[in-house]
Amino acid sequence: MKQALARWAIVPILLCAALPAHAEWVRRITDGIMGTRITVEVWAEDAAKGNQAIDAVLDEMRHIDETMSTYKPTSEVSQVNARAADGPMHISKELFDLLTAAGQYSEITDGAFDITYASVGYLYDFRKHVRPDDAQIAQALPAINYRHVILDPGNQTVRFSQKGVRIDLGGIAKGYSVDCGIDVLKRLGYTRAYVGAGGDSRIIGDRFGKPWMVGIRDPMKGEGNVIARIPLVDAAISTSGDYERFFEEKGVRYHHIIDPHTGHSASKVRSATVIGPYATRTDGLSKTAFVLGPEKALEIYNRLKDIDAIIVELDGTVVTTEGMKRGARPQ
Ligand code: ADP
Ligand code: MG
Repeated sequence: MKQALARWAIVPILLCAALPAHAEWVRRITDGIMGTRITVEVWAEDAAKGNQAIDAVLDEMRHIDETMSTYKPTSEVSQVNARAADGPMHISKELFDLLTAAGQYSEITDGAFDITYASVGYLYDFRKHVRPDDAQIAQALPAINYRHVILDPGNQTVRFSQKGVRIDLGGIAKGYSVDCGIDVLKRLGYTRAYVGAGGDSRIIGDRFGKPWMVGIRDPMKGEGNVIARIPLVDAAISTSGDYERFFEEKGVRYHHIIDPHTGHSASKVRSATVIGPYATRTDGLSKTAFVLGPEKALEIYNRLKDIDAIIVELDGTVVTTEGMKRGARPQ
């Protein structure tokens, strides 16, 4: 009996020696970068290396925050806001490319996505329940128009066509940072991973024959309640909701997505989830339904062959793109 036990004890030791280093899911949740919660999960042959890879993803995200945040006066975007109305300003290739992408999303969404929303948007402080009055909005509103941002690819410069224009990349920088995080992991050889920043996430690979399941929050209920769980492989998903940054006054909800045409909160839906190939794109498209309403937004999403969407209307009705109804998966 003693001998038998000893034999069985040896077998696992030999097996361990024969196997490669112990592979496992390595996961980290971090608060404080870009003012949101970052989740990174990788399938790693070696947990220490997996943790180093996560460090590299977070470093990349911190760099993007340093460059793009309007909360940091030293950021490149803050410098642009301070000086681009005075004349052309040379900017980094990274910012130039993201401003170019932002302009493309403005075109695709009929101007619903517009980084110059900030020309009025900076007058709101949702944490302190501060909002501009009608006179302030009327005065600042002419400065909202993505066409005021003039990019010169030859010289890699940006210029604002008039005073009073401000940009804010809060509607696309998280998606972009998720894509950059995924690129870091891909470069390091990872083939199964999840990177999420607030409402924007992207996945590479699957979970060994099974998809990743990403929950969509029910905007009519508190945190933790989901309306659907979406199975995803090699895809990005962004959700915008009116419950993210808001305050209420006399029954009116003031929240962080601004209608570029009015300077007021865009309140035509409760939430919109966009699924597509990468997170810069899904982030750039997820605010559309708030500004244009569900019908017009679905028309745009249905036209884009790589995009699917799930919208929760004001009364809680859920509507989706044609691809979701067929059960098709975005490529
Ligand atoms: P999250 O910040 O959680 O990812 P969203 O993707 O819904 O949420 O983006 C909301 C942010 O987009 C706002 O906080 C603001 O910075 C920015 N934003 C607001 N209105 C617009 C708009 N019309 N076009 C582009 N960006 C916008
Ligand atoms: Mg987003």
